[in-house]
Amino acid sequence: MTISTTSTTLASDDQTPLMKQYNELKAQAPGALLLFRMGDFYEMFGDDAVVAAGILEITLTSRDRNKPNPMPMAGVPHHSVQGYIQKLLRAGKKIAIGEQMEDPALVKGTSKIVRREIVRILTPGVQFDAEGYEANYLATVTTAPGSKWVLTCLDASTGEALVSAPISLESLNSELRRLSVRHFLHLTPQLDLAQFGFSDSVLVENLPKNYISLEKATEVLRRHYELENLGSFIRTDSGTLGLGTLVTYVLRTQLLDRLAHLRLPEALHKPKCLVLGGNTAQHLDLIDLFKIVNQTRSTLGTRQLKNWMFAPLRNPAEIADRQTAIREIAGLWTRLGEKLSSYLSHVYDLERIAGRINTGLASPRDTLALGQSLVSLRSIGELLKEFQAPLLIELKQGLDGLATLLGPMGDTIVRTQREDAPLVSRDGGVFNRGTTPELDHLISLTEDGQRWLVDLENRERQLTGIPSLKVRYNRVFGYYIEITQSHLKNVPSHYQRKQTMVGAERFFTDELKKFEEEIVTASVKQKSLEQVLFNEMIEEIKKLTPPIMDAARKIGEVDSLASLARLSMQPNWCFPVIEDGLELDIRAGRHPMVDLAKRGGFVPNDVSLSQETRLTLLITGPNMGGKSTVMRQTALIVILGQMGAPVPAIGARWGSVSSIYTRIGAQDAIARGQSTFMVEMSELADILHHADKHSLIILDEIGRGTSTYDGISVAWATLEWICTKIRARTFFATHYHELIRLASTLPLLANAHMAVAGTRSASQKTLRFLYELREGPTNESFGIHVAQLAGLPKPVIDRAWKVLEELESHTGASGSAAQLHLFDSPKASQQIPFEENLEENLGESSDLEVSPMDQSSSEPHPVLKELG
Ligand code: ATP
Repeated sequence: MTISTTSTTLASDDQTPLMKQYNELKAQAPGALLLFRMGDFYEMFGDDAVVAAGILEITLTSRDRNKPNPMPMAGVPHHSVQGYIQKLLRAGKKIAIGEQMEDPALVKGTSKIVRREIVRILTPGVQFDAEGYEANYLATVTTAPGSKWVLTCLDASTGEALVSAPISLESLNSELRRLSVRHFLHLTPQLDLAQFGFSDSVLVENLPKNYISLEKATEVLRRHYELENLGSFIRTDSGTLGLGTLVTYVLRTQLLDRLAHLRLPEALHKPKCLVLGGNTAQHLDLIDLFKIVNQTRSTLGTRQLKNWMFAPLRNPAEIADRQTAIREIAGLWTRLGEKLSSYLSHVYDLERIAGRINTGLASPRDTLALGQSLVSLRSIGELLKEFQAPLLIELKQGLDGLATLLGPMGDTIVRTQREDAPLVSRDGGVFNRGTTPELDHLISLTEDGQRWLVDLENRERQLTGIPSLKVRYNRVFGYYIEITQSHLKNVPSHYQRKQTMVGAERFFTDELKKFEEEIVTASVKQKSLEQVLFNEMIEEIKKLTPPIMDAARKIGEVDSLASLARLSMQPNWCFPVIEDGLELDIRAGRHPMVDLAKRGGFVPNDVSLSQETRLTLLITGPNMGGKSTVMRQTALIVILGQMGAPVPAIGARWGSVSSIYTRIGAQDAIARGQSTFMVEMSELADILHHADKHSLIILDEIGRGTSTYDGISVAWATLEWICTKIRARTFFATHYHELIRLASTLPLLANAHMAVAGTRSASQKTLRFLYELREGPTNESFGIHVAQLAGLPKPVIDRAWKVLEELESHTGASGSAAQLHLFDSPKASQQIPFEENLEENLGESSDLEVSPMDQSSSEPHPVLKELG
């Protein structure tokens, strides 16, 4: 977490006018690194220079080197400033750009210094030039009744605004992490930020308590959205205060009155969507799944598909609608799909371009990209005519309407703008001939001027008979005719001397002087006219912001559907049937990421839950047996299926899932003041409070972070609660074999296990994981085998076998019972001696021959993974 502090200005007794100006600007942007434009460089001074030099890996120099306390200084060239800005933003810095507001050439020679102003403040969460589909959220948290919190997020570049319902501290924590908030405005002193464990790249800025009032926030939002009543979009005062704060912050830092591209606020958890509770997205590595699945062609599509994945649908009819559309695209792939993909790849990031247009940052390249994208809308709409799926018909109609509105603007841009348009409009060269007659005239003057000069040179050579005569230009002396020493006698009398060179003289004529005046003014005039035309175009585009934002979403949807169509064409992916009810049946399902890594070596599994007798599955089996994998794959399949996507299975059917709750893996949050077990229990609490009968719950080894008895007791009570009160579809993996017997008392609980070939003993040298989920329980864990596989020293392994043997002989039972009765014999540990020759044995390799489990197999289908 980077805390934004108010940085002080530079102290200097004999302040130069420049340093005085620097300090004035610095005081206007508290907490920001000031990039102070000086000629071709942006310079930083004092602490700013020291900090930036470290992050940017640039040389730290100093100003006034001869003085006793020279001031640190570091600079970056203006033409590559973008890259440096991005690096500073990634490091969690806030940046102020102090720009030269007048042409230094005009000030030169006067006693004045160039006027400079802060033209923009950029932060990790308020930036407009970011690339890619990821959002950069500016966020804040406000209090809500009942010890709850409301989280509000704004991506100023795409205009996305999110407001949560009142949520618990635990949910707040996971949401902040899931959304990778980049800049946090701290408004609520009672919220202790230490518990969020923000990384260094997150900028935390403390705002004064009275930054804005609720009344002011309401007024800002009403004016912004031109809505009298915000109630249907933001349901709480806390949300209004939060979003009002974010919008005000952006407007103030960007010196703007309005962000026309700002979208209406959306609920953080979409009401009709499947909820991914707590840290489910992280537990399931959803980002990795997204990377495998994503085959979109535009940034808009990538952003949309990711939204679909993080907020899958619930309504079976809506899911079926998406499936129908995806199937149809896949069915017509060779005729239409390829073409559609190619059109989509010509649509640029309309959301971010609209963001730059509305914040005065758009470049001619942005407008050109916009124009080309708007032209593509029409082609995409045309192509969609060929499809019958209701969703595609709806998208086509929407796009047709938008193409009518936006197409003419697209045509104008593409016709008038040059393909090699420069990055900044003031350099000219933005527009083609044919844009306006006045511009045509000026372009002719400058372009024809070059031809005129060549003609002049030829003409004068003939007239004077001097073959080496040259007509040239340089920045200091302008246009001239150059004649070498040997030909000076032939110079006509109307030539006027301009400059004497070694071996040559330079002249001008009245004709050349007149031409020079015309051409120089023409080029200045052309640049300023192009600037005017460009600004007019930006104003026209601004008026089209709402339909452009609408088109962005629709294109995103078409691209997402096309991407899923491509996915569905892969072998062994199928569309599931999503229905009502609580059944779940997956045939030959695979874990998409593990399957990919195993390159054909993955063992598919059938998973089936039924409403009456098998709603909760208690999975036992060896360590490394595949318990986590089969549970995660089920959740991933449900997510994919409910976003309308095909799933990695040969068949699947389930009753729509309303929420997925997972507790997987040991993650601790020491930085947040919580122990591993505390995190585990907090997540479990969240699940037990929020899951309902339409949820899917995945619990991996609940209770293992504490003593055996405590752990079993918690796991036991949890299972009972889930099977009798929540009655949701649940997968519960455990090494507490004591729980197996619960199946006889809980009618909804069924036992299953991951199969393994081999027996558990010290002499057993071969262990084969079958990765098959089978009916019924097992009471073997093979923990010592896995410890050996992990490379524990042989004496420790040998000793572990001895201890186990001893424990089991005490109880007369194996595995689980031994665990349970471990503490029945308090002296047990003292009674079992360590091997005498421990020293000698250290360093010897194990006699269990093993190969690493995660080694990918290139064989076609080795169903069994062999160990040793
Ligand atoms: P533990 O009890 O130790 O946590 P586990 O039973 O949960 O283990 P997993 O983590 O699911 O086991 O799987 C261990 C490894 O086995 C995986 O990383 C994967 O490489 C491999 N594996 C799991 N399932 C399969 C499968 N169906 N086909 C092929 N390999 C698999």
